[in-house]
Amino acid sequence: MINRSNCLQIMLGSVIIFFLVGCSTKDKTKNLTDSIRVALRKKGCDANSVSIEYVDENCSVNARVVDGGIQICNKFFNYEFRDQVSFIWHEVFHLNNDKPSGKSSLLLEDPVYIGNVPVDIIDYINNVVNADLEDYSKQIAYNRMISLSEIRDSVYYENEIAAYQQEINTIKDVSSQYDAERKFMLWKHTASLDIAKKYLRK
Ligand SMILES: [Zn+2]
Repeated sequence: MINRSNCLQIMLGSVIIFFLVGCSTKDKTKNLTDSIRVALRKKGCDANSVSIEYVDENCSVNARVVDGGIQICNKFFNYEFRDQVSFIWHEVFHLNNDKPSGKSSLLLEDPVYIGNVPVDIIDYINNVVNADLEDYSKQIAYNRMISLSEIRDSVYYENEIAAYQQEINTIKDVSSQYDAERKFMLWKHTASLDIAKKYLRK
């Protein structure tokens, strides 16, 4: 009901079409998240008491934990339903298992490159994520994906490693595209933790 009255107010303003699209996404999100909760329950994960809210933002992530609830961003809708179920499973895992981590991060003047990148990760970055780029842009995009421009608290990486590991072990039915993505994320967080530990020792 709150959404509807917000929609009405905004429709009286000048940017009618843009906000109408926004409203329908909120309505669609409610139906979608209800279906995701049902799918999760079948997998033994109870997300009924968790708030799942759509934010009209192009975040770098599909979904995230904010203030004890889950927010889903625009990128979330680019994936298959079974992947979306896996995303929410991952965020519920964070809510239930994360250790408190420091919020601050160390911004680096020059990026730190992760060494010894496995062949399957190189292949994933060049032939899946950046497949359509020209060679020059491909190299820049590759370098960005295998480097860190900031160092976060090591507990942040530990929480992500635990969430991805458990997600991969538990939710097997995902698209091959997302399966490769989450394995990349697990590799990157693991390598980042090693780098963070070295920096924290300095
Ligand atoms: Zn995560």
